[in-house]
Amino acid sequence: MTVRIGVIGTGAIGKEHMNRVEQRLSGAKITAVSDVNPAAAEEALNELGIEANFYPDDQALIDAEEVDAIFVTSIGPAHEATVRKAIEAGKYVFCEKPLSVTAKGCKTIMQDEMEYGKRIVQVGFMRQFDKGYEQLKQAVDSKLVGEPLMIKCAHRAPEVDAAYTTDMAITDTLIHEINILHWLLGDNYISVQVLYPRKNKHALPHLRDPQVILLETESGVLIQAEVSVNIKYGYDIQCEVVGEEGIVSLPETESLNIRNNGKQSTDVLQDWKVRFQDAYDKEIQAFINQVAKQEALQGPSAWEGYVAAVTSDACLKAQESGQREPIELESMPAFYSKEETAEAQALR
Ligand code: NAP
Repeated sequence: MTVRIGVIGTGAIGKEHMNRVEQRLSGAKITAVSDVNPAAAEEALNELGIEANFYPDDQALIDAEEVDAIFVTSIGPAHEATVRKAIEAGKYVFCEKPLSVTAKGCKTIMQDEMEYGKRIVQVGFMRQFDKGYEQLKQAVDSKLVGEPLMIKCAHRAPEVDAAYTTDMAITDTLIHEINILHWLLGDNYISVQVLYPRKNKHALPHLRDPQVILLETESGVLIQAEVSVNIKYGYDIQCEVVGEEGIVSLPETESLNIRNNGKQSTDVLQDWKVRFQDAYDKEIQAFINQVAKQEALQGPSAWEGYVAAVTSDACLKAQESGQREPIELESMPAFYSKEETAEAQALR
C-alpha cells in the first residue's frame, strides 16, 4: 500500500516533511495540501515539484478520498482542532509539536483517541529517532554507568530572529529536552526552577538569554539544562548523564578531523534541520510503515504531548516567579503503555 498523505500547513517544516516523503522515504506520497495561505501552498508545491490537490481547510482535506493519513504542520495553536478532526474521521495523524498549546487540549485528544480505541496519533518529537540518543538510551537502560544521578545538557543555537521571545526558550527550544529526557530516564518530572545568568550581549533587548532550567524527577535525578540561542558558534546539542559509576554522553556529530596550520579541528553544525535530518527521516518512515500496516502507532504519543505540555506550563510559571514550581502529572492511562499499544490494540 502506498500511504497517501495530506499536509496541513505548508510552511518551513511542512515543506521539509513533504520533500522527505517524496525524495528520501519510501511507501508514501503527498496527495493533498491545505494552508490558510493558498498562494504559499501553491508555491510550496511548485518549489518541490509535487502534484497534489489543494483544499481550503483542514476538514475538507481530512475528508478527501485520496488521503489516508494527515501531517499537521500548521502553527501550534491550530494543531488541537485539526488532530481531533482527524481522529473523528479515523485517519492516522502525525502532528508536529506542540500537540496542543494547553495540557487540557492534550487530555481532550487522549480522550478522543482512547474512545477511538487505537493509537493513531504520533507527535513530532524526532529526537527519539536520533542515533546518538538511541545509544544513550541503551546505555541508561542497561545501567552502563549505574543509576543516573544527574544530567547536564545544552541546547544552543547561533541566533534567533526578532519574533523569538523569552517564553519560546521553553515552548520552542527546551520542549525537545523536556520530551527526550523524560523518554531517556523513564521518570516523571516533579519540579522546575529557571535561572537567568548574565545576559548575552547578542540577545535582543526583549529576550532573556541564556537561561538555565533546573528540573527534578520523581527518583531524584537533577537536570541542569542550558538554553542559549545567540551563542554564535553553532547549533549544538549536548547531553551528559552522570551515573553512580561513570559518565555517558551524547556522541558528537560526524565530522572530519582536520589538522592544519598548527591546529586540530572538527566542524560544529549550524542548522537544526541538518543536525536532526536522519531523525526526521526515521520518525516519518516509522509513521508511514505503521500506517501501511494499519498498526497501532509506537512513536511519541499523545500522552507524551500531554507530559510536555504540563512540564512546559510549569517552566513558564518558573520563568516568571523565579521560584521552584511543582510539576503535577495525572497518571498515565494503560492505553498508552507500550504493552497495551503493541498487543491489545493490534486486535482492533
Ligand atoms: P511556519 O513556517 O510558520 O509554517 C506554518 C504554516 O501553517 C504557514 O504556512 C501558516 O500560514 C500555516 N497555517 C497557520 N495556521 C493554519 C491553519 N489554521 N491551517 C493551515 N495552515 C495554517 O512554521 P513552522 O516553522 O513550519 O512550524 C510549524 C509547526 O512545526 C510549529 O508547531 C512548530 O513548533 C513545529 N516545528 C517543529 C520542529 C521540530 O523540530 N520538531 C521544527 C520546526 C517547527 P501563515 O504563514 O499564513 O500563517
